[in-house]
Amino acid sequence: MKIHGIKCKKCSSVIFSRACHDFRTCFCGLTGVDGGQADDYVRVLFDREIGYKNVTIDLNVTLKQLYEDWNNKTDQFGLIVSPRDSRKVILKKVIGLKY
Ligand SMILES: [Zn+2]
Repeated sequence: MKIHGIKCKKCSSVIFSRACHDFRTCFCGLTGVDGGQADDYVRVLFDREIGYKNVTIDLNVTLKQLYEDWNNKTDQFGLIVSPRDSRKVILKKVIGLKY
């Protein structure tokens, strides 16, 4: 499924929220996102001088899996430090990302 993610322009990590109360911060801690994957609500916290970038991530995962990953604190998803870090995510394709 297509997932809305946020790329921190400082540390280049990509984060996304798995459920509406799932607040994720990036690797360096400057950027944060919550609100889940609903179309009508997303909240992004970022440093005004550094900014952030909206990205679309194509992950081989369902909304239910994302919710359970958050709810059970498995924490397999939500933070992508690098596209090559396959231990953290099942990453099929990252669109609009340049590392
Ligand atoms: Zn960061």
